[in-house]
Amino acid sequence: MRFEQVIGHQALGEKLRAGAQSGRVAHAQLFNGPEGSGALALAIAYARYLHCTSRTEADACGSCASCKQYDTLQHPDLHWSFPFFRKDGSDHALSQPFQAAWRERVLQGPYFGQEEWLTAIGGDRKQLFISVQEAMELNRKLGLKAFAGGWKVLILWLPEAMRVDTANKMLKLIEEPTDRTVMLFVSEQANQLLATIRSRVQQVQVPRLDIDMAAAGMETHFGVAASEAANLLHVTDGNIAAALRMRGEAGSDEDHRLFVAWMRACYAHDSVTTVALADDFAKPGREGMKRFLRYALHMLRQCIVGNYGAQTLVRLTETERQFAQKFAPFIHHGNVLDMQELLERAHRDIAGNVNGKLVFMDISARLNILLRKAG
Ligand SMILES: [Zn+2]
Repeated sequence: MRFEQVIGHQALGEKLRAGAQSGRVAHAQLFNGPEGSGALALAIAYARYLHCTSRTEADACGSCASCKQYDTLQHPDLHWSFPFFRKDGSDHALSQPFQAAWRERVLQGPYFGQEEWLTAIGGDRKQLFISVQEAMELNRKLGLKAFAGGWKVLILWLPEAMRVDTANKMLKLIEEPTDRTVMLFVSEQANQLLATIRSRVQQVQVPRLDIDMAAAGMETHFGVAASEAANLLHVTDGNIAAALRMRGEAGSDEDHRLFVAWMRACYAHDSVTTVALADDFAKPGREGMKRFLRYALHMLRQCIVGNYGAQTLVRLTETERQFAQKFAPFIHHGNVLDMQELLERAHRDIAGNVNGKLVFMDISARLNILLRKAG
């Protein structure tokens, strides 16, 4: 990831490069931007720029030894940390067992959210954290001499996943930095960070991407036709991670059958059918229930895309399209966000081991109210 590959944020990039050129590099910086805004991409481009041995005013060179190591994200003075979970039977809670998966995920494009990270490592949101042990390990690593003799850079994704004791350990590192160390914290929700940390880091505000800019970037970097990208991005408000997620969701025939029957039962407040469907919902097990809920979210989003008037760009099979045309009028600005939140919460609950049937019955009752809300 070089600056030229970062979507948008040209002015921010210029500012970061100018700082690096003049040697004004704060040792702790917080890249704060919403999911899909490219805060991680920007942090990686900046780290690469700091390490590049033949950088120009415009960018890292792309061909020096350091840049070559960045191509596989394996520079010896580039350290990564991120939320992870404790592997079964392991005494240590360290990011080490997840480092390869992390590099692989980032190399697919640093525009992803927690959902994609969870899928990559097979965890669930509730378990993800950054441990005290991890913070101690980072203290140790950053205390070592740099291999290449230049900067030691840490990119820590989602510092908000640090618990208070972890954050306090990191605070020590921020207050008493080791020599030639730069810590880049990449946050989606900086307001969840300890105020003591927020006040000691230099903040880099990464704004939500403008839709045209994001669409052009999705076309260049992810091969999505600009018109389709723009359509997806309208629904996700410029969030590239969510737009790519939406594009990747497709359900089985069984998911579709269940979704159609479920929406009809919810609308009709038909509790007999809802109870029967709760069994169908729970039958495929936890992963199956999660997949179905993602499918339901996908259908919901597609209905909204359709409502924007771009029927030809809706990503649905013929059967789905026929249903969506009838269903879409019931989805509108007055209920779509609440419905989305409901399905996302159900996904989290299922991942967190809540009983599937209970979750299903609960959201069915709430969906009935939302579906009957006037647009
Ligand atoms: Zn270089």
